[in-house]
Amino acid sequence: MGKKYVYLFREGNASMRNLLGGKGANLAEMTGLGLPVPQGFTITTEACTRYYEDGQVIAKDIEDQIYEYLAKMEEIVGKQFGNPDNPLLVSVRSGARASMPGMMDTILNLGLNDTVVEGLAKLTNNPRFAYDSYRRFIMMFSDVVMGIERSKFENLLDEMKEKKGVKLDTELDADDLKALVKQYHELYQKEKGEPFPQEPRVQLLEAVKAVFRSWNNPRAIVYRRLNDIPGDWGTAVNVQEMVYGNMGNDSGTGVAFTRNPATGEKKLYGEFLMNAQGEDVVAGIRTPQSLDQLKETNPEVYNQFAEIAEKLERHYKDMQDMEFTIERGKLFMLQTRNGKRTAQAALKIAVDLVNEGMITKEEAILKVDPKQLDALLHPTFEAKALKAAKPIAKGLPASPGAATGKIYFTAEDAVAAVQAGEKQVILVRNETSPEDIEGMHVSQGILTARGGMTSHAAVVARGMGTCCVAGCGEITIKEHEKVMIDKNGNTYREGDWISLDGSTGNVYAGQLPTVEPEMTGYFGTFMEWADSIRKLKVRANADTPKDAAQAFRFGAEGIGLCRTEHMFFEGDRIKAMREMIVARTEEQRRKALNKLLPMQRGDFEALFREMKGYPVTIRYLDPPLHEFLPQDDEDIKALAEEMGLSFDELKHIVEGLHEFNPMMGHRGCRLAVSYPEIAEMQTRAVIEAAINVNKEGMQVVPEIMIPLVGDVKELQFVKEVVVKTADAIIKEAGVDLQYKVGTMIEIPRAALTADEIAKEAEFFSFGTNDLTQMTFGFSRDDAGKFLEDYYSKKIYEFDPFAKLDQTGVGKLVEMAAQLGRKTRPDLKLGICGEHGGDPSSVEFCHKVGLDYVSCSPFRVPIARLAAAQAAVKKGDELGQK
Ligand code: PEP
Ligand code: MG
Repeated sequence: MGKKYVYLFREGNASMRNLLGGKGANLAEMTGLGLPVPQGFTITTEACTRYYEDGQVIAKDIEDQIYEYLAKMEEIVGKQFGNPDNPLLVSVRSGARASMPGMMDTILNLGLNDTVVEGLAKLTNNPRFAYDSYRRFIMMFSDVVMGIERSKFENLLDEMKEKKGVKLDTELDADDLKALVKQYHELYQKEKGEPFPQEPRVQLLEAVKAVFRSWNNPRAIVYRRLNDIPGDWGTAVNVQEMVYGNMGNDSGTGVAFTRNPATGEKKLYGEFLMNAQGEDVVAGIRTPQSLDQLKETNPEVYNQFAEIAEKLERHYKDMQDMEFTIERGKLFMLQTRNGKRTAQAALKIAVDLVNEGMITKEEAILKVDPKQLDALLHPTFEAKALKAAKPIAKGLPASPGAATGKIYFTAEDAVAAVQAGEKQVILVRNETSPEDIEGMHVSQGILTARGGMTSHAAVVARGMGTCCVAGCGEITIKEHEKVMIDKNGNTYREGDWISLDGSTGNVYAGQLPTVEPEMTGYFGTFMEWADSIRKLKVRANADTPKDAAQAFRFGAEGIGLCRTEHMFFEGDRIKAMREMIVARTEEQRRKALNKLLPMQRGDFEALFREMKGYPVTIRYLDPPLHEFLPQDDEDIKALAEEMGLSFDELKHIVEGLHEFNPMMGHRGCRLAVSYPEIAEMQTRAVIEAAINVNKEGMQVVPEIMIPLVGDVKELQFVKEVVVKTADAIIKEAGVDLQYKVGTMIEIPRAALTADEIAKEAEFFSFGTNDLTQMTFGFSRDDAGKFLEDYYSKKIYEFDPFAKLDQTGVGKLVEMAAQLGRKTRPDLKLGICGEHGGDPSSVEFCHKVGLDYVSCSPFRVPIARLAAAQAAVKKGDELGQK
């Protein structure tokens, strides 16, 4: 026998989710539980995959099985497809492995045609109902299967209501609806050049194909990318006997949750509409009634439903989201699934379920999506205001949160506005550079027209926990004129209000009200459980004492990456930094370095204090130089004066420093190879800071990290400078200070020769931003411009700068970890690229045996939970073996 592609509901169960999709598996499970489920069959996700493999056709063997199971279904329900005397009508609905609400398509009332509708009218003695069902079916089929715009049908419905002088569609009578069906037929004929298909089997097959196709509609592709759902899973199709909520006032349809999805409160919560079909509830045509009203009007059905709801929640051990229909007073269950919920509700429900003895802590840990926690850490827009607002543009959701403020087009203007008393400021730039740091710091939000998820603006904003929308190509920013123009040509000037949603990338005109985050007791309890389960340590990427303090509050167990150059963005510091970079002689350079030393030492002392004895990894200078070079003549003039040079001399030097590809240029350890005095100064700052705070009673063991190493000899060279300097200072101070020297693994060659490198390095930290850039061979700053094309053409499913490419870059990480530990079994391994805060990447780090992940402060709680989930999942895997 060939492969089985179709299953009756009574043949499946909840464990068959991968094959039957979530909806199909749950319909089967409910059938098994003896609940009132209209019967039918599920066409598997494998049939969908085959459909694509076969060039978007349904193969003959699958088609045969569909008809075979249709016959079985007819037998079970005692009705026949296309028989006007006893018609079977079905719904055709998508159902993927992971729930993707509203992403794919549904068709109801399939099986109706010009004769069956007459039969149905007679049989039910309800012509109004029959024609109402038919007009709905024609519209849905035409829209979903044939691609005729739904609005064209809706317009005809509206015209009919107007003609009849009524407001609601329920006020149209059978004759009106019959006339409408005729108009719908004409519209179809006009659009398609052929009559509406009358043969139910043709309708069915076309609908199945449409559902398969909808797996790849643009919104589904985007949804999958945002929710880490692989594109090769495919969707199943459920064919189910119709039951009718539109049979009159003793019928209705609704959705309900076993607990409140917004707050988590344990109370049956839902809405329903009498005399309606499913799409009416979703479309908001009429205002639904609350479930409490059903309790009053129809206590019997309500009680039966409440009992089923409780049974389902116990059975699935989670909050259920259910769809039901009441047909002439009789209840049917159309769907159940674990309900989507807000972050706040997710935590409450997880903790409550443990306290109610329904699940273990380990099971609770798996019930909350780590990315959701983010919503609890930032301000958000008031839900009602957000719903009512219409975005003027959409960019990349680079750093979450909600910000509303007056726009300023330069960092200086933003700073000046705040100094003048402005409380809410949004910095709008084509892109940001290190010079903008102060302006970014004082702003509530940052909007850039260019740049990707790892652009300067995005990385810095995430580090600060500031809301940022980056790469918003839909707006034009004329920085010099201080105007921003949206795609509709509306102009926004300095001081105008806009609002940014860093979680969706949406930009709004005007001022949207925000609400501050609340960290309830549930958050604390839940995170305590996560911490007790996880094996991976979680550190933070923090460059300033302020970031370090924030990270500590969010539970960071150390700093995994302090980008020392970031300390020099602010105020006067950037001048000394530039002086150092443009210095042409060692003497000039040492003079500039001497200015930097006390600032850097002070910052390190503050960082050590904030981290209260937890490890702190300090990375030596790494910047691609262009980030720091003076940009315009004004800056060059000021710097020349400072350095006692002429304008022309300095301009010449700056031009000489131009690099075609600064990201692959004179940066990282290459700077220390050319100018060892930089590493000397930084070592002095680190070691003296550690000695100073240890005198206060701390026991800091600083970790010195050399960036961008590709060859062990580079590391050897720089390490020698570090050790020589450090040991001399320690000796002179007459103290006993331990310190470690390690490296970043961020160049493919370093990963390939990790066994060599581990001879010199006491720890590795994977710099997966650069490692991704160099493994793929595309720039982290520019890739955003073309990655969209890769997603839409299904070459990539996700941004490899946000989620680790486990197949390629991950292979390098795993290999380097193994090679490194072969040389040095106690080698400490961590990751400090952006991936350190991405849940699926954290899981990967756990699998390959890293000791810690490091991420921006606001992602620390996310990483803590992701690490706990990885430990639970790995435990489950081991248990199964
Ligand atoms: C990296 O490359 O992953 C890294 C953490 O360093 P940076 O982003 O500063 O280059
Ligand atoms: Mg790097």
